[in-house]
Amino acid sequence: MDGEGAASVARSTMVPMTSTEPSVFTKIVAREIPATIVAEDDRVIAFEDIAPKAPVHVLVVPKTQAYANVGELAAADPDLLAHVVQTAQRIADERAGGQFRLVFNTGEAAGQTVFHVHAHVLAGDLQEGTLAS
Ligand code: 5GP
Repeated sequence: MDGEGAASVARSTMVPMTSTEPSVFTKIVAREIPATIVAEDDRVIAFEDIAPKAPVHVLVVPKTQAYANVGELAAADPDLLAHVVQTAQRIADERAGGQFRLVFNTGEAAGQTVFHVHAHVLAGDLQEGTLAS
């Protein structure tokens, strides 16, 4: 095998830099796990939370799992973060008269369980004083 052939084999068998296991949300993007999808485009997907905490509880998730939390996303791709927020607004416009709470749990101590950045869109008669429970 000549040098270029060996190099191309090496490239084709290289493990990608981000060879982490697919997150549960990546599996939803790939339709490997079912979900009630309410919006989707090339950059984000939005679906009903499996354990809703409010009458409207939708997760808006970047399709890439490169960012574990909103701080990482903001630092690396502010346009994508803005798109997540705009998608949340559109969903709230459609379902809750445009009024909503947007939550990004960040870190285990803040209740984060899925380390693939996502926004919780919560709406529907939320009361004052219920920000954390
Ligand atoms: P976190 O606690 O990380 O902020 O939020 C993770 C959210 O993902 C939780 O509200 C949880 O109910 C939701 N979730 C976890 N697994 C699934 C799943 O397989 N399908 C859906 N639709 N939601 C999920």
